[in-house]
Amino acid sequence: MAGGPVSGRVYLVGAGPGDPGLLTARALELIASADVILHDRLIPESALDGARADAELLFVGKEGGGPSVPQERTEQVMVERAQAGMTVLRLKGGDPFVFGRGGEEALTLRAAGIPFEIVPGVTAGVAASAYAGIPVTHRGVASAVALITGHEDPEKEETAIDWNALAAFPGTLVLYMGVRRLPHIAASLIAAGRPASEPAAVVEKGTLPDQRTVSATLETIADAVAREGVRAPSITVIGPAAALSQEISWLEPKPLLGLTVAVTRARAQASGLARRLQALGAKTVQTPAIRVQQLPVELPDLSRYDLVCLTSPNGVEALFERMDEHGLDSRALAGATVAAIGPGTARALAEHGIAADVVPEKFVAESLVQALADTPVTHALVARAQEARDVLPEALRARGAEVDVLALYETVAEPLENEALKAACEADYVTFTSSSTVRFFLEAAGCNAALSPTMRIVSIGPVTTDTLREHGLEPHVTAARHDVDGVIDALLADAAARA
Ligand code: SAH
Repeated sequence: MAGGPVSGRVYLVGAGPGDPGLLTARALELIASADVILHDRLIPESALDGARADAELLFVGKEGGGPSVPQERTEQVMVERAQAGMTVLRLKGGDPFVFGRGGEEALTLRAAGIPFEIVPGVTAGVAASAYAGIPVTHRGVASAVALITGHEDPEKEETAIDWNALAAFPGTLVLYMGVRRLPHIAASLIAAGRPASEPAAVVEKGTLPDQRTVSATLETIADAVAREGVRAPSITVIGPAAALSQEISWLEPKPLLGLTVAVTRARAQASGLARRLQALGAKTVQTPAIRVQQLPVELPDLSRYDLVCLTSPNGVEALFERMDEHGLDSRALAGATVAAIGPGTARALAEHGIAADVVPEKFVAESLVQALADTPVTHALVARAQEARDVLPEALRARGAEVDVLALYETVAEPLENEALKAACEADYVTFTSSSTVRFFLEAAGCNAALSPTMRIVSIGPVTTDTLREHGLEPHVTAARHDVDGVIDALLADAAARA
């Protein structure tokens, strides 16, 4: 190897069963740093949100019932990229070593002399059971648990499964991949001596917002599953512990289940809102209609100001980036009163070590002006987006202050993919969190008529509502608090009233 290229490293990482909250801290860290990510279908929808913008994302799974990327091809890509010196993340649903072919991939890497690490994940059999209220082991009820593959493909030859041994297994049986073969599996277990009356449960889409559990006995489970139309991904739990879900089942009904919500924020900000809507059961369509673009500006001498106003988290990020380029940190703002327009902006400041001195109760410029009424100001800096209202600078000037407006960034239209646009136009709800999202979204949609007539429009506040009206749209709901929490509360209240 002397003189050869330094090999990259491969991480075989479990992404958990679907709930993004079950991604491990280590998985998130590696997603954020990888050069290449090879992933399957059964990873949380938002798992790749934190990937680097320039990371190469390769889908190597099986699309629906269609053909999959051959395993040899996946391993070949993994090896090639690593040999080229890249950091390769192989991201799999659940745990990489539980029916995830992680062992085979590790052997291939070892043979190729490529260094690798394994990051375990929360496996579906245990997690889906837990979310259904089934403890896979339980004192006095089940002192062992077996993870078994049932095989998805009914065409496949008889597997190597030893039904006699499984029927005699003294504990809970957790079957992966077997839902279509359940009639055969249940009959085989009963024929081999497992009691027909034993409790059984099938958990479909475990840990996801539309998780479903079907409970029956070993004898009746296959019929129950067929009747309910249960599909993959599902796990089957067989054993006395399965009956405990009657008492332990804890998942509450999701208030937004069955609703589709279009989220029109800039990509960088949309994921937070989308994630929270998903956690409430909504399906989200992300239509990142706008993108933040930094503007080339001269950073003024910050020590001149006794008041620095930030009017968005983007503004905070842009200001600190600019300061960083000049070798400055938060101490450059030490002499000034720092005002944030709302809690999102205050949080962004806090991440840079600054506790905002002023945060108004309502998150509009008028409220910030009010909140600053008792603050003496001679020189103020308003750091903000290029296209913004002039309420704040004008009000400060009216009080005799000298005000510099620093336009740090602009929001620009981002082309929408047709599919995303169509899905957004057909959503049950659309959320608008600023005037520019209204303008850009409608521009992309072509005209208001493209929007479904039954779509409910949610506006973050009065300014966005005015812009909607200018475009001939009347919001059905305007948030009482003009931030993301307010938008979610408004949407929840509207959905509840209409349910
Ligand atoms: N490595 C994965 C398993 C991959 S095999 C893990 O450790 O979880 C794929 C099978 O896992 C599916 O057919 C299904 O049986 C199960 N599975 C994966 N995600 C699931 C989910 N969210 N709910 C129920 N079963 C799931």
